[in-house]
Amino acid sequence: MSKVSIVNTELDGKSIKKSTKKAIELIGGIQKTVKEGYQVIIKPNFVGPIRGAVTDFDVIKAVVEEVKKCGGIPIIGEQSGFEFDTKKVFKILSVPELARELDVKLINFENAKCKKVRVPNGLFKELMIPKAVLEADVLINIPKLKMHSLTTVTAGMKNLMGILNKEERRKFHLKNLDLAIVDLNKTCKPDLTIVDATNVTKSAGYGKPISIKSIVAGEDVVAVDKVCCKIIGVNYKKIRHINEAVKQGLCGRNIEIIGKFKETPVRLEKRVLSQNMFCFFFKLMHIIDYVYSRIFPKKTLIPLFNWIIGLRPKIIKSKCTKCMLCVKVCPVGAIDNHLKINRKKCMDARCLKCVKICPVGAIQIKRGLKQ
Ligand code: SF4
Ligand code: SF4
Repeated sequence: MSKVSIVNTELDGKSIKKSTKKAIELIGGIQKTVKEGYQVIIKPNFVGPIRGAVTDFDVIKAVVEEVKKCGGIPIIGEQSGFEFDTKKVFKILSVPELARELDVKLINFENAKCKKVRVPNGLFKELMIPKAVLEADVLINIPKLKMHSLTTVTAGMKNLMGILNKEERRKFHLKNLDLAIVDLNKTCKPDLTIVDATNVTKSAGYGKPISIKSIVAGEDVVAVDKVCCKIIGVNYKKIRHINEAVKQGLCGRNIEIIGKFKETPVRLEKRVLSQNMFCFFFKLMHIIDYVYSRIFPKKTLIPLFNWIIGLRPKIIKSKCTKCMLCVKVCPVGAIDNHLKINRKKCMDARCLKCVKICPVGAIQIKRGLKQ
């Protein structure tokens, strides 16, 4: 029997921390997993630079406090999405400040040393997993529940992709992302998954979030993902990687849900319909990038592709009052004093802080090939 707890929360820091601790307590407490002196890797979701789309810091703070209470040594480890630069994302989100405040080590998995691990009956024979994860005593997975253009829903299972380097992730996109996620979860099983389900956004966080106000926790990551689907009114069978994991027996047969929840359905139809098209496009993008990376080792075209087809800022000069607030707020110095946006600097950061701060709406969000 897999126990999964759901605790309602308000959206202030105090309430989120309290609810996170309660969710952990309801599945037996962290002391079941963490013992004195244990190295504990905490894997949040810092996929991109937008706060609403990443694991809430208060969930992380609560987990770190609980781990320390048991004498464990927490280490935060993460890597941003393929199209972003992890260092820039950490800086924009103030992750180094969080690590300092909590007095924990921070690992950027982008440069981590890895070791081959065999995948039992998988799509891949082996995967390269960071040594820090393999050598740790405990892995605590702290995803953010979100919508995703390729997998429709992302929670615990997909969050583990952040431990893989870009080469490994490219392989996932080139073969079959859903089966690859299942492989990863066979190779690297989190001991505990605590989901920030406070609100649901699109994967990179652009767009209006849907308020869910819950924290979900459990030891069985597939069971946790199934419950996450339930609370947003999605049939898990439609989510290929979760359904495949269940089929392959990665999940306990019975799930005991502890706690009450109100189902908050999210609209999926359009996303499910467009999923195949997105998968095809991403595959194509990664094939081109693979060829490019063979010619220019360690280089990638993915940020450029995402800049072209994704969201990006554009200054409308006729509306601009030259207040220069956007220049000051840009965390990577991508806007110069002539109010020109440097594509190279903005491309792998794209935090849209400039859009938010402009008092006269002179910075628009451009999407796709539109100019
Ligand atoms: S130009 Fe705007 S979107 Fe780009 S990094 Fe700077 S603030 Fe963020
Ligand atoms: S914040 Fe808006 S008005 Fe101010 S300089 Fe930038 S684009 Fe112009």
